Amino acid sequence: MADPYPICWLNGSYLPLAQAQVSPLDRGFLFADGAYEVVPVHRGRPFRMRPHLERFDRSLAELRIRNPLSLAQWSEVTHELVRAAQAPELLVYLQVTRGTEHGRNHLFPPASVEPTAFAFVSPYPQPAASVLANGLAAVTLDDSRWARCDIKSVALLANVLLRQEAQDRGGAEALLTRDGRVTEGSSSTIFIVRAGTLITPPNDYSILPGTTRDAVLELAAGVLPVEIRWFTVEEMRGADEIWIASAGRGVLPVTKLDGQPVGSGAPGPAWQAMHARLQQHLDTIASRPALEAC
Ligand code: PLP
Repeated sequence: MADPYPICWLNGSYLPLAQAQVSPLDRGFLFADGAYEVVPVHRGRPFRMRPHLERFDRSLAELRIRNPLSLAQWSEVTHELVRAAQAPELLVYLQVTRGTEHGRNHLFPPASVEPTAFAFVSPYPQPAASVLANGLAAVTLDDSRWARCDIKSVALLANVLLRQEAQDRGGAEALLTRDGRVTEGSSSTIFIVRAGTLITPPNDYSILPGTTRDAVLELAAGVLPVEIRWFTVEEMRGADEIWIASAGRGVLPVTKLDGQPVGSGAPGPAWQAMHARLQQHLDTIASRPALEAC
């Protein structure tokens, strides 16, 4: 299938995606030695770009990979790709790897090796009307990922296997458990609602500090009580509502867990209210003058 937005950005140049080339000796290819970000674009505006770019910078710093661009430069690349795509709902993907050297050495390459930097844009997959009306099914699985899930590493093999396992069992997301606690989804953060209180795990090494999670917490402030704390699978099973949140999917209700209904088995009132608030928030941002810099 032809790519609908064929312009990408690679190591400083805008070029057709079909012409972009990276060496097979790139450490991203050999070792998954890199980090990435996904910036959502709603109503033509990158949403929460600065937190995304700051998290990108932090991921790279934790991996001891030099970020080849400043936040302002990444912002410019993002805006340029959005301008070229000319579509209001998009996902901008950014990635940096530790670069390419001859051979295959676990040790870091010499400082003279330049990181490989890449960005491309793709359509934002809108949630189906049936998902908004009926919610998603999810399954619980053991969290088999590494011990630094706070880093948005391109090493996503465990996430890939978990998501596929969920799909094979009829679920749209795997909700992960480690040491008796629920951590997050395979590509989303998690919220539960119990007796009117919104509960989500704290940011630590075992979860990605989600940008959508932060947006939800800001929109919830003063509207419903919030607790940032760990919860067990049993607590999640007994919740009135379960939500997953990510830049790529927004905030979606989970209405079936391991084949059993969650709460009433339909998207709950707290999710309905949050979804409406988020849409309103995006409308408000879209009505403001565009800021090119992040
Ligand atoms: N957790 C994981 C493992 C993810 O991969 C993602 C997003 O891809 C998230 C959480 C949600 O983060 P964000 O809301 O910033 O997209």
